Amino acid sequence: MAITGVKGFNDILPGEVEKWQHIEAAARRVFELYGFAEIRIPILEKTELFCRSIGDATDIVEKEMYSFVDKGENAVTMRPEGTASVMRAFIEHKLYATDPVAKLYYMGPMFRYERPQKGRYRQFHQIGAEVTGVTDPKVDAQVLTMLCHFFAELGLTEPTLQINSLGCPECRPVYRKALKDFLRARIDRLCDDCKRRFETNPLRALDCKSTGCKEATIGAPSVLDHLCAGCDAHFAAVRGYLESVGTTYAINPRMVRGLDYYTRTTFELVTGLLGAQSAVAAGGRYDGLISDLGGPQLPGIGFAMGVERVALLLAEKEFKKRPDLFIAALGEPAQAEAFRLMTGLQRRGVSVEIDYEGKSLKSQMRRSDKFKARFTLIIGEDELAKGRGALKNMDAGTQEEVSFAVEEIGERVV
Ligand code: ATP
Ligand code: MG
Repeated sequence: MAITGVKGFNDILPGEVEKWQHIEAAARRVFELYGFAEIRIPILEKTELFCRSIGDATDIVEKEMYSFVDKGENAVTMRPEGTASVMRAFIEHKLYATDPVAKLYYMGPMFRYERPQKGRYRQFHQIGAEVTGVTDPKVDAQVLTMLCHFFAELGLTEPTLQINSLGCPECRPVYRKALKDFLRARIDRLCDDCKRRFETNPLRALDCKSTGCKEATIGAPSVLDHLCAGCDAHFAAVRGYLESVGTTYAINPRMVRGLDYYTRTTFELVTGLLGAQSAVAAGGRYDGLISDLGGPQLPGIGFAMGVERVALLLAEKEFKKRPDLFIAALGEPAQAEAFRLMTGLQRRGVSVEIDYEGKSLKSQMRRSDKFKARFTLIIGEDELAKGRGALKNMDAGTQEEVSFAVEEIGERVV
């Protein structure tokens, strides 16, 4: 029996991969406009990194990590997200010594042991960006605007931006207490997960999908009414800057995010098109994370988007690349000439296809149709003898005569 792939780990096949390349290229293009540089981080990290940063009472650390002990007895984990690794690298290589303000982006696979379904896999891919060293709310507005710019670049009107503020170590405990006091009277209606984390992470009940939790949290105190003066002013300034550049948003005071390290601004890009997998991108500010990981006292903000979910939103669009030219050749000498022309043109940067086994002209033209080549050139015995053939523009329906010179054909098809 043939061996199949591991459940929740997908192949991205030609036909689909062009969409991924399009998404990745758009991210690079847009992020670089905003001054971000790429960082490539490893897939394996010490397990401790994620426990310390993401937090013990989160879904990821509690039940989703691919952790194991390697042959050298080291406890390691296949990264479930990118922020912790980027900050680990930022600290380890003392990037802050040359400039505390780093703007970094990354893309690559992440691993979480979840129940696979549409838009949720065990190996999935994120594109993310992080900014360190800036407390000013302009940077929050810039990161959000860049993310919206990226979706606009892809021509997507979904997803839409939701923002919230989770406060800081000064005001969040006050809110936590107010929320716990409210929930304590309704604790029986909470789901088992939310009951269990009532002491460690009570905020999660606010965005829990179970009906009991939804009902129990109706009328719950809002985090936005409990912000300290500093956090309140920061949030107001973020909104002001977003409005000043026309980045539209909605405030969602129930958005709490699943990771512990967030402070102040948090956000999600949500869609109604992917069922329970409604978050396409998410992130927030993490002003305590860098120092928690043993680095300097520097703030940070960032996001990650799920590439599979972005690709699902682009489902209807066709990204398959078309070759510039297809050469149909009849008979051995013409096929040898086609091979020579093809190679010469490829060396000049023209993409060319032939039918390696091509027997009849009809079967070769079928193959050209399949490739949707922009031009076709037919070389039969007569054409070979004349040294000239017809170059057809398949979109315009026009044709012209060309000699079998790489330079001449190259100029006509680009
Ligand atoms: P969800 O609520 O859907 O589980 P999350 O809050 O766990 O998402 P984050 O940790 O914030 O997600 O990751 C950022 C983005 O990565 C998500 O918005 C989503 O697009 C994507 N993502 C997260 N987990 C998966 C997964 N298992 N499969 C595919 N994409 C994922
Ligand atoms: Mg999750």
